[in-house]
Amino acid sequence: MSERGAPPEAVSERGAPPEVWSRIDELGRWLDGSDGLVLGVDFDGTLAPIADDHREPTLDPSAHGALRALAAVPSIHLAVVSGRSRADLTARVGVDGAVYAGNHGLELVTDDGAAVHSEAAGLGPTVRRACDELDDRLGDISGCVIERKGVTATVHFRRVHDDAVPEVTSTVEEVASAVDGIRVTAGKRVRELRPAVQWDKGETMRLLRESAPDGWRTMYVGDDTTDEDAFRAIRPDGIGVYVADDGDGDGDRRTETAASDRLGGQSDVVRLLVWLADRIDSRSSAAGATDAREAVLATVVDREPFTRVRSSPSTA
Ligand SMILES: [Mg+2]
Repeated sequence: MSERGAPPEAVSERGAPPEVWSRIDELGRWLDGSDGLVLGVDFDGTLAPIADDHREPTLDPSAHGALRALAAVPSIHLAVVSGRSRADLTARVGVDGAVYAGNHGLELVTDDGAAVHSEAAGLGPTVRRACDELDDRLGDISGCVIERKGVTATVHFRRVHDDAVPEVTSTVEEVASAVDGIRVTAGKRVRELRPAVQWDKGETMRLLRESAPDGWRTMYVGDDTTDEDAFRAIRPDGIGVYVADDGDGDGDRRTETAASDRLGGQSDVVRLLVWLADRIDSRSSAAGATDAREAVLATVVDREPFTRVRSSPSTA
């Protein structure tokens, strides 16, 4: 992205991408060549540190302030994209003017309302039945938590003894493969049961990009394997920032990523967000950016394949 307005250079999926700070001037020129930015940001391990107990992570004041600043810039569409349910995510972040994509984008919330992926909603009962069986079969394993998130579920084993982890993962695979309509994805010390529909963080970023005006660019920041869908979706003209593990003990410092750039760790994310808000806000906003954002916020929950739902969600 050496030329103003040029897309970032293609980066091989082999080898760690460069540290974003090592080419921050190029990133600035890339932003200057755009009319606005669709910015997707993951939550756990990105906006907040990963905790042993999935109920623990909260935004610290600096992260909250950075998100508020980003959401206030008319030429930025901020989306928080997470595996957490929309109720959980909106409660944890609580910034107006952002898009919340919960359950890996199967649920969307904006200031204008909430929506769920129609086909996924129909598979909710199947996910619940699978959770019932997992409760029966994994209930005795110390530290194993089955979190029901409505259209998906997460099996957490961060606190399970290493010796028992294979039993957890193989049981999840077995239960999911015995029913139609469910697929399993892997994350950091978790397995997730998801409805077998073609939707993930990548499709979410595509939808948000398509909702934005021409001339806008796309950026995504995330740490986990499920974020790779988003990194791939925004290539070749977007910027993906892979947040490396800065010491939560998983040793997840993968070098194969579809991201174009890298951050050294979660503790460095806020610095990047603050830099982005300042950089984009410091120039004259693109004409009509405020109107454009309101139009996006008003329509994104009405797009295919989503169906509007009441804003107070059920997580049963
Ligand atoms: Mg994450």
